[in-house]
Amino acid sequence: MRRSFRLDADACTHVGRRRQRNEDAFLLTDRLVAVADGLGGHAGGEIASAVAVASLRASGAAADPESLRGAFVEAHLAVQRRAAEEPELAEMCTTLCALALDPAGSAVLANVGDSRIYRYSDSRLTQVTWDHIWENEYVRMGMSPAAARRMQGAGSLSRVIGAFPEPCEADVWTFDAADGDRYLLASDGLTGELPDLDIAASLAAGESPATAAARLVEDANARGGNDNITVVVADLVEPARRRPG
Ligand code: MN
Repeated sequence: MRRSFRLDADACTHVGRRRQRNEDAFLLTDRLVAVADGLGGHAGGEIASAVAVASLRASGAAADPESLRGAFVEAHLAVQRRAAEEPELAEMCTTLCALALDPAGSAVLANVGDSRIYRYSDSRLTQVTWDHIWENEYVRMGMSPAAARRMQGAGSLSRVIGAFPEPCEADVWTFDAADGDRYLLASDGLTGELPDLDIAASLAAGESPATAAARLVEDANARGGNDNITVVVADLVEPARRRPG
């Protein structure tokens, strides 16, 4: 029998309790979901994240690694083109993480920046992406974590969509789909406030994606809400495998 997965996904975004504007953006379609966290002076951050998400949607990216990588390069160039139109937007950039579903049975994930994708499967939460910040790059180069943390600019982004002139390469992962797998895409306004254990508890509660997303945002605000918070919860559903009732 031909397998046919679908995405049951929902999102929640909130400005948080300290910021004046929400510079995050998200994308929800039946095959493709994404989160973007924009940075840049004036209105730059919210424009960068919105342009990246709109570009990704328009790309019609398929659920294969090359297609998704190409769509990320397109988004990168789209943000750069928009930035070139106004001097005030010159520095704007954004993170971008995305999940594309192949209904035949796989999920392709891509990431640039420090928004994150988690996979909740068989009652275990795994962080799939690694944050593109200099601290992590230094550790990859062989520096000790303690020394890397002390480096100047350790926490700043080492890869972004938009700001650097080079085309930006996304990290990409492919997972076999299984009925009941749950994915979380989140900006750092969530992961900066909530430890993984609390995130896992919210994802495990068996609530709908909409309810789980709203609960996560509420919890991040309760812990401080120091940044914009954006969450997409996406369940992989294989209707033929679902028992009636
Ligand atoms: Mn943020």
